[in-house]
Amino acid sequence: MKRRCTGLRKYMGKPIGKGIRSGPVAVIRDANEPVKRKRTDNSQEEAERLKTACEESKKQLEKLYQKAVKEAGEAGAAIFKIHQMLLEDGSYLSAIYNQIETEHVNAEYAAAAAGDAFSERFAGMDDEYMRARAADIKDISNRLVRNLRGQKEMDWEAMEPSIIIADDLSPSETIQMDKDKILAFVTVHGSANSHTAILARMMNIPAVIGVPLELDSVRNGMPAVVNGTTGEVFLEPEEEICRQAQARMEEEEEGSCLLQEQKGKETVTTYGKKIHLYANIGGVKDAGSALENDAEGIGLFRSEFLYLDRTDFPTEEEQFQAYKQVLQMMAGKKVIIRTLDMGADKKADYFNLGKEENPALGYRGIRICLKQPELFKTQLRALLRAAVFGDLAIMYPMIISVEEVKKIHEIVEGVKAELDEREIPCKIPEQGIMIETPAAVMISDELAGSVDFFSIGTNDLTQYTLAIDRQNEKLEDFYDPHHKAVLKMIRMAVENAHKAGKWAGICGELAADPELTETFVNMGVDELSVAPAMVLKLRKRIREL
Ligand code: PEP
Ligand code: MG
Repeated sequence: MKRRCTGLRKYMGKPIGKGIRSGPVAVIRDANEPVKRKRTDNSQEEAERLKTACEESKKQLEKLYQKAVKEAGEAGAAIFKIHQMLLEDGSYLSAIYNQIETEHVNAEYAAAAAGDAFSERFAGMDDEYMRARAADIKDISNRLVRNLRGQKEMDWEAMEPSIIIADDLSPSETIQMDKDKILAFVTVHGSANSHTAILARMMNIPAVIGVPLELDSVRNGMPAVVNGTTGEVFLEPEEEICRQAQARMEEEEEGSCLLQEQKGKETVTTYGKKIHLYANIGGVKDAGSALENDAEGIGLFRSEFLYLDRTDFPTEEEQFQAYKQVLQMMAGKKVIIRTLDMGADKKADYFNLGKEENPALGYRGIRICLKQPELFKTQLRALLRAAVFGDLAIMYPMIISVEEVKKIHEIVEGVKAELDEREIPCKIPEQGIMIETPAAVMISDELAGSVDFFSIGTNDLTQYTLAIDRQNEKLEDFYDPHHKAVLKMIRMAVENAHKAGKWAGICGELAADPELTETFVNMGVDELSVAPAMVLKLRKRIREL
């Protein structure tokens, strides 16, 4: 798959988000790229570079400060003033200049080394305020290094819509991007089953991964064409390629106009089997796409995305407002919100999850919530309060036992009692679980008795059934969600739900696979939840059955 084609600037990768786009390129460099120590004979020049980078950093911080004052007030903006002060700190700066001069090293290395040494020193201090400065000094050093490397910060406001090219993108980086400014994603690494790929599909943005590009040879603003259906990427394409791309875009436009006919129609097979066709979302904005695409509800709101785009835990009120807004937008349609499924590839520094040998088998999902009940209760309070504003259902991820479900229900009852005591309007809505571990499938007969519904997470179910890390790009040829074992598991979970009089849906990426639609309908699957852009296509497919 990772082939560079003949012709200087044509590359092939793995297509993961359909569609074709052309436009200028914006390169995102890895902020954590290791800093190399290089010897230099011209210390004077390195010192000059450092001085320029310091000035640039101060200007950036002043801009950030002004922006934050407007958005968050003086107190919220104070951190950027602290960073500016640290950049004027004599001992920190002299440490960098000294190292350049005495050890003849490059400025990047000296800045990173001083950052490490000073943040370690701060971290060891008794005073709590000073200890908190350890992260700031590290931040400042990283900014200096970025400026020394000429890595520009993305100015999403000023940027024209662009094709984003990066080595790899984490879900937290992706979620922070301004969707309206992204024409397509191209990455050198990455896996088709990662949450970044899922996000690209959810945002309906063409994407190609595993493209063997040398990032150093790609300039910002360079024209490009990306075909997320074939996996082709062209840099500085010839006129003919641009003309073909334009023609394909027009065809796509026509195709999507035809699909509009499906709006308002019932999702039902020719022989009268009704399927609930819902959409997967990651935030309030996506609910708009769900509605635009005529989704009949939200089958999976990945609430952890609310935790990714920030530097501290969202408060109960922030979460309540987000959930309530989605419920109000969906105006009486079902909204299934999954509780925090953090961990593995979904990480935020402030969670301090630590490094794990096997993160996919690690501290994630409901395990974090059960181990950190206060965190869980904050979210549950927000959910129970939001439940009075529409047809909400809560869903719990990564379940492996009936005991977990019992424990969760106890916590939910406790939260309800606490809210009642405070006379805060709330209710316990329908509660279901994700079936995404083989353990949950094997005891689905027992689990079905304790919950209101099952939603099958085929992304993780495939990963755990086949023992294949969904993040590992080397294993993509082995990751087969059509594997007999996976399909048997889905059938078993659906049958056990029905025996207990409960409904079962699928919210993993497989739900949108048209090759399996008939199989799922025949299995008796009651609900399919897919990326908003897939809703009308799937409705058409089901109506043709
Ligand atoms: C799944 O595992 O199929 C699922 C829907 O959850 P996620 O992709 O967020 O892990
Ligand atoms: Mg999952």
